[in-house]
Amino acid sequence: MAWENDLGDQLFHENMNNVAPTGIVQYYNLVIKSAQGAEVTDVEGKQYIDLLGSASAMNVGHNHPHVVAAMKQQIDELVSYDAGYFTNPTSMKLAERLTKLAPGDQKYKVAFGTSGSDANDGIIKFARAATGRSYIISFEGGYHGTTFGAISAGACDVNMVRKIGPLVPNIVHVPFPDLYRHYPNETVHEISMRYLADFMRPFNTYLPADEVACVLIEPIQGDAGIIKPPDEYIQAIHTFCQANGILFAVDEINQGLGRSGKMWSIEHFGIEPDLIATGKSIAAGMPLSAVIGKADIMDALGTSAHVFTTAGNPVCAAASSAVLDIIADEKLPEKSVTDGEYAKEQFLKLQARFDFIGDVRMFGLNGGIEIVKDKISKTPDNNAAAQIIFRAFQKGLILVKLAGNVLRFQPPLVITRAQLDQVFTILEEVFNDFQQDKI
Ligand code: PLP
Repeated sequence: MAWENDLGDQLFHENMNNVAPTGIVQYYNLVIKSAQGAEVTDVEGKQYIDLLGSASAMNVGHNHPHVVAAMKQQIDELVSYDAGYFTNPTSMKLAERLTKLAPGDQKYKVAFGTSGSDANDGIIKFARAATGRSYIISFEGGYHGTTFGAISAGACDVNMVRKIGPLVPNIVHVPFPDLYRHYPNETVHEISMRYLADFMRPFNTYLPADEVACVLIEPIQGDAGIIKPPDEYIQAIHTFCQANGILFAVDEINQGLGRSGKMWSIEHFGIEPDLIATGKSIAAGMPLSAVIGKADIMDALGTSAHVFTTAGNPVCAAASSAVLDIIADEKLPEKSVTDGEYAKEQFLKLQARFDFIGDVRMFGLNGGIEIVKDKISKTPDNNAAAQIIFRAFQKGLILVKLAGNVLRFQPPLVITRAQLDQVFTILEEVFNDFQQDKI
């Protein structure tokens, strides 16, 4: 089949489901009936390997028996009680465990929510309350969710904000380092310095540092295309924050819980954050999120400004405790490192053969594969990426794209080596077919 012009994107859009019950954009008319581990089965019985990992919400794998059993047991005891009034042993136990997971020896506290988005709204609230300052610094390309604070902190999609403004005020966005597209012969250090100058520009021109409550950062940007900035860049920002009483908050919703090869992606940079937002995989996709923060910061807000009826729901908390067991028992961060290295090797071999694979970024079992017109120009090729993911889907892979042209590789961390091999057999076929049709 010949693919011309933007036929790939057209096909891609034609196959997005416009009958989704909530009006949410879905890919490919896929209606999922059941799932296990790294595989999902659709209503017609067709099986797929899930390279999306339910958008990095399924690090422990679909329907892990320990998660399912923990939830069933909890349902028999207590399904829900308004979190604004009373708590329950399951949620208390989870909160205790989460405070111990924070990468630092200070005393931490936890505030539960139900989505990654509300956790990021929480970050803004806690930081403003604790510092008495209003400004938040976040990053271009960042995605933090779709509640008002989260969407205001994000900066990745003009269409997301077009109809809903004005957004939450006093959020300043600075560029995020790009190690793929840079000036000729620039070293990593020079790139870091250039982006640090961008970071400092607001402070050097119009923004008093003592009016800034926090920096909110995805230590590895997820939706922007799995982008890890240089260590010295993040470390310099952290040092600047410490020197100026600015809190350092990390959004670990996409990259946390073993995804990047560490429990938290900020650990790659040796930094102890003041606030952490977590969600998604924290409860294997059940609606649970949490802000984990240093106790004095968390205490500053008081009790009523960040509470939800169903926050820390006991069934979700039971799932989450099971998730934490599994991450430890199955050594998922370590597995993410070794399987990530294996997957990276496979992608690098493919990159050497195909001129349209511009960049292979892989941090743990966590990759962004840039599809470009050619390796020299590095021009993003959204159309080619659309064709590739559609072909992969037809052959049994759930694969989506980020930022228009980047293949998103975030399978459940429990994926087996045999399944990974199957993935690369299919991808090789897909890339070959695509290459041949292109010529
Ligand atoms: N932050 C990051 C980094 C994310 O990737 C996401 C979701 O994709 C969110 C926040 C929002 O989480 P939720 O969709 O659970 O509100």
